[in-house]
Amino acid sequence: MTTAFAPPGNPKTQQQVASNAGTTQMPVIIKLQGVTKTYPNGSRGLLDVNLEVNRGDFLFVTGPSGAGKSTLLKLLYGAERPTQGDVILEQFNVGKLRGDRLSLLRRRIGIVFQDYKLIPRRTVSENIAFVLWAQGFTRKEIQRRLLPTLKLVGLQHKADCFPEELSGGEQQRVSLARAIIGTPPVLLADEPTGNLDPDNSRQVLRILKKLNAMGATVIVTTHDEQLVQMSNQPVVQLRDGHLHQEF
Ligand code: ADP
Repeated sequence: MTTAFAPPGNPKTQQQVASNAGTTQMPVIIKLQGVTKTYPNGSRGLLDVNLEVNRGDFLFVTGPSGAGKSTLLKLLYGAERPTQGDVILEQFNVGKLRGDRLSLLRRRIGIVFQDYKLIPRRTVSENIAFVLWAQGFTRKEIQRRLLPTLKLVGLQHKADCFPEELSGGEQQRVSLARAIIGTPPVLLADEPTGNLDPDNSRQVLRILKKLNAMGATVIVTTHDEQLVQMSNQPVVQLRDGHLHQEF
């Protein structure tokens, strides 16, 4: 699937993303080659992991706590560097990036965490818009993107609420909106349903699938077997830092 990923009602952004996509001929968007991560204290995060993810894929990464799921995502967004091997995302060799080039990479990735990581004294709209302010988007452009993004996660009626006024499921949908307002081609979600009940988990999953259908490449870590079974998407499993392909 190679559809451009953009919020509804956003034709200009669609073109921009489409032309970016056009510069990358390879269908592979993420590639890990012989990746080992050993932390300074000697803990092993990953061991000789090889993985290819195609543009437009939706992939679950499962495995018990401590298996290396977060490590895998951190290597993808450059929060950790591999001890050995290469982590490639689009044209970036992630482990070798620093400074401005690392910031550029991060604009290509939306990230969702289990604990939402919202700014408590900012409204829903401000939380979502913050990432665009930080990237120097104009006020007009931010306004143009805000409403379609809020609608996409079903929170247009909560735009002026503060995080503490929202349920856990709603907070997670704010964090999803924040992750996607910059229309990144890659969306990484680290245990996004870890704090949610089954209904809210399903809702978050539906939104992730919708974003995937709009063209985003999505990687979701989870230890929620039910969620994985319900979604009928490809799965890889991590155990003790080893990756097992299951599709
Ligand atoms: P998961 O997300 O599957 O629970 P993690 O990727 O968080 O697993 O952790 C994999 C292994 O790496 C665990 O043994 C964990 O203790 C270790 N680890 C993770 N982060 C660090 C860190 N910053 N320093 C040292 N060890 C770490």
